[in-house]
Amino acid sequence: MTPLRLLIFLALFSTLNLSQQKQPVKKADSPQAIHQSALIIDTHADTPQRFLDEHFDLGQDTPVSDGHEDLGKIKKGNLAAEFFSIWVEPDYKGHYAKRAMDLIDSVYQQAARHPDKMTMAFTASDIVRARQQHKFAALMGIEGGHAIENDIRLLRDFYRLGVRYMTLTWSNTNEWADSSGDIDDAKVQHHKGLTDFGKDVVREMNRLGMIVDISHVSDATFYDTLTVSRAPVIASHSSSRELSHHPRNMTDDMLRAIANNNGVVMVNFYSAFVDEDYRKASYDPEKIKQRDEEVEAYKKAHAHPDGSPVPYNEYAPLEKRWAAQFPRPPLKSLIDHIDHIAKVAGIDHVGLGSDFDGVTSLPEGIDSVADLPKITQALFERGYNRVQIHKVLGGNFLRVMRQVEAVSRQIQAETEESDALTFQEIELMLGNYATPTHLLDMIHEHGVNFDLTPERRQQLKSEKATDEVLDAIAKAKR
Ligand SMILES: [Zn+2]
Repeated sequence: MTPLRLLIFLALFSTLNLSQQKQPVKKADSPQAIHQSALIIDTHADTPQRFLDEHFDLGQDTPVSDGHEDLGKIKKGNLAAEFFSIWVEPDYKGHYAKRAMDLIDSVYQQAARHPDKMTMAFTASDIVRARQQHKFAALMGIEGGHAIENDIRLLRDFYRLGVRYMTLTWSNTNEWADSSGDIDDAKVQHHKGLTDFGKDVVREMNRLGMIVDISHVSDATFYDTLTVSRAPVIASHSSSRELSHHPRNMTDDMLRAIANNNGVVMVNFYSAFVDEDYRKASYDPEKIKQRDEEVEAYKKAHAHPDGSPVPYNEYAPLEKRWAAQFPRPPLKSLIDHIDHIAKVAGIDHVGLGSDFDGVTSLPEGIDSVADLPKITQALFERGYNRVQIHKVLGGNFLRVMRQVEAVSRQIQAETEESDALTFQEIELMLGNYATPTHLLDMIHEHGVNFDLTPERRQQLKSEKATDEVLDAIAKAKR
């Protein structure tokens, strides 16, 4: 061995030896490296209201007291994709779809203003591609099924505009699905879960490839949805009811049901949903009453001359001040929820649905999206490894999104294959050219692609369908 070779050998040997002796954490597995290499997806932020109502630009540095997300903070937090919430406040009654469209437009406007830093995304592959191009991916989810104004065509239009999930209800029960938000309110007309039309909405979402979101819904709506949906579902921003007893959170039984459905529960960061002490303090009926009265007084004093509703963002500072009287819970409370859901449902069924820009209080240390690395750090300290943490940060959601896309393709292929008659075709034939015998032949030959619900039976009867035809339809579902 030449002296030079000996030197090299010794140098190699000593590094090998060193690494064997010390067994340090591999650099790639440090919490920082785990966070930086992750594809991080958050499934709920209410920032579009700020875009629309405050003319907020995502490129603008924002104090955390005003907002939780801007492009600088997004980069700091290494967030790859955000689902911007198209939340339609029930105050917009009569104009739900218009309000939703305006919010959708506001997201597109942001992407158009910052083409070098962000891009619209509509598929799981789009998210991955945006990441490769070092661009932040903006996606959209509708919050509150009332936005479709009881019209399945509007649902399809929203899909065409790029909306990729819909929360079946917000805190308000709509005409086809019950919400957890008013389930104890006797003045509200409830449906014991989903109506027939509600079930059709879920089926159509499956067919389109729009993810069904069960955050906010009542327990009965939740279980109805799982029996109808062929695709995995998500809770875009819900936490554990076992740990914080809010009816908007998910029971352990629901968590297991989501695991069976291969879906994912994205943990909401809101202090009252992750910390039982905070929830109890802030849900004091007297204090809530005082807050609601202040909000009402504000709305009255600042009424818009054109009669349009005073949007949430205008009185949000008031609600934030009110919330600040309760001490913020520790970060541990939030991590406990991730941990609990991972234990009950499994590590494949938990993710992040912050509710940034939609909540008045967050746990200590989480002031904005820039603080996401603290969640990785905390999970790491609890013993979660790289693969597990990556699943929580975005991998699980991406899997569900891909599966929803695959189920949609499958359903569309099935409908193409069979030439089963649609409800509209039957109506058209009844109204136009078919004799009952002709119609019976067609039904027997082709079958139908819909369930004959009592509503539809009534409808066809009013269009002069005979009992024989109705019975044939009832048996002809493919
Ligand atoms: Zn919400």
